[in-house]
Amino acid sequence: MEVNLRSQAPPVRKVKGYVAIDAARCKGCELCAVACKEDVLLLGPQLNKKGYRYVVAKAEVCTGCTNCALVCPDAVITVYRTPAASKR
Ligand code: SF4
Ligand code: SF4
Repeated sequence: MEVNLRSQAPPVRKVKGYVAIDAARCKGCELCAVACKEDVLLLGPQLNKKGYRYVVAKAEVCTGCTNCALVCPDAVITVYRTPAASKR
């Protein structure tokens, strides 16, 4: 029986991402959460000064793809990328 090892191995990522969210300017529309294929973003429970629940990053699986920043109508998200630690 043939085993497909490629489908069992965890994905190897060359870069890791990190998102900075300006919570005071977020209006909670969730466009960024829908655009994130890694399910990193979700609405948090607290309100900002404008009275909106704002988006928070819930997991450290961000790839730095920038999808969230590109769809945000208010340019609230800044994406940073760092090289993943190389194996030696
Ligand atoms: S950069 Fe990509 S993976 Fe990271 S939070 Fe935004 S959409 Fe998700
Ligand atoms: S798309 Fe922008 S304004 Fe909308 S929830 Fe995400 S960060 Fe907030």
